[in-house]
Amino acid sequence: MKSLGLVGAGIASSTAITPKVFDLDELAASGEIRKYPWFVKEIGFKNPTVEVDWKLLKSYDSNNVYKFTTEETEQMVQNQLNTMKKGVANNTPGMTLRDFAVLEGLRTTMLSVPLTRDEPSFNYTTTAPSKPAGYTRKDLGWPKWELNPEENLRTLASAIHLFGGRDISAIEVDEDVKKIFFSNASNKAIRFEDIDAPIETASSISIPNKCKWMVVFTIPQSRLSGFSHVTTGKYGVYGGYSDAAVMMTRIQGFIRAMGWLAVNKGGGTGSQIASNTGFGVVAGNGELGRCDYVLSPKYGALIRLTEFFLTDMPLSPTPPIDAGMWRFCQTCKKCGSMCPSSAISLENEPTWEPSGPWNGTGRKCYPINYKLCLPWRGMPGHGAEAGTGGCSQCQVACVFTKLNDSSIHDVIKGTVATTGIFDSFFRTMDDAFGYGKGFTSPINEIFFSPEQWWNRDLDKFPFKGRVVGDGWE
Ligand code: SF4
Ligand code: SF4
Repeated sequence: MKSLGLVGAGIASSTAITPKVFDLDELAASGEIRKYPWFVKEIGFKNPTVEVDWKLLKSYDSNNVYKFTTEETEQMVQNQLNTMKKGVANNTPGMTLRDFAVLEGLRTTMLSVPLTRDEPSFNYTTTAPSKPAGYTRKDLGWPKWELNPEENLRTLASAIHLFGGRDISAIEVDEDVKKIFFSNASNKAIRFEDIDAPIETASSISIPNKCKWMVVFTIPQSRLSGFSHVTTGKYGVYGGYSDAAVMMTRIQGFIRAMGWLAVNKGGGTGSQIASNTGFGVVAGNGELGRCDYVLSPKYGALIRLTEFFLTDMPLSPTPPIDAGMWRFCQTCKKCGSMCPSSAISLENEPTWEPSGPWNGTGRKCYPINYKLCLPWRGMPGHGAEAGTGGCSQCQVACVFTKLNDSSIHDVIKGTVATTGIFDSFFRTMDDAFGYGKGFTSPINEIFFSPEQWWNRDLDKFPFKGRVVGDGWE
């Protein structure tokens, strides 16, 4: 025991497993929506600190906005391009191709995610009258942004983190990994070919063989999913998908601007062409869980997906991980015993046998039975009376789905990763503290109703936004 060090501390300390209790009164709004520091005074309506004469004030004709002449606009664009060219030529930090490429990503406002994107242009203030379509990397004579595979991954990780992705990982796409892609999706054959860019037809999706690398990143899911009996629970699900779509449009703009491909299909529903779970496990975003999807060491089972895209930019791969979670699942079974449809296996041993044609082959796991699960996402008589509530109980109930400073916090996670001998103790304690009691205990550490959520303290409520980084970490 001594040699384990942290274990002794973890078991002895009651705070290691005691749930963080939030004070409901503290979390309920006091009536104030905005909260400014004490020194801010509220003053009279329509009477801001700048003097306004409402009699003099007239609705403004925006045609009067100051505009450059055509010649001046051209001059400004060329001046900006010259400044940019100088930065790129001199590799000036903050003014390199990858810096401008991030801006191109952020400027993207499209929400539909194509297979790939055309080369974006770099005019960021306005377009030049002489070239309204703008100047691409090639027009400017800039070579591709290219470093070694480690630095390339670091570049992508820094930008994708800014766009909202987490735990950015990479896989080298060899013949084995290609098997994780579907052979056919929506009646389109999916294949890899010696082509320069991806092609989609009415009957096929062709991915270039030169896209030998894949980036996989985690899209965490809001704990509001705990309100699974009502619509509020779906905020976590759909918020996660649409966040992923926004991220993918930005990523495609960013990577294309640097001269490389970023191949995705649909964004947020990238699983149209492959199993995102498979990639998440192989890339090391998490381990496979008994629930048959990715368990993240940070977010537990509460992740919407491990989004992915292929690229021809060489990347150094990241290996799979072992945080003791797969081993923990062998004895835990909590998701399985809470699942209202019995879709999650309660067997002791994993199996190579699929539970039906909805499972793939080649994994020794606890294959989920989707035929039993899916009705619980909206079929009459399956606990989804609200029609849009769905289920997600397995995700919320998972022992690893906790706030970072609560039950399974870092000490316990460290113990689980080091040894399996306390696994059943931790599982018992998780129950003892009342976690994951299904439809009636929405968000584990906070027993909050959907109605109270509308009146929450906007500053203090711990799950402020939909995605990680905004009240999660
Ligand atoms: S979503 Fe619900 S029904 Fe489906 S596996 Fe999870 S707990 Fe079971
Ligand atoms: S609830 Fe338990 S068995 Fe299920 S995925 Fe989480 S750790 Fe594994």
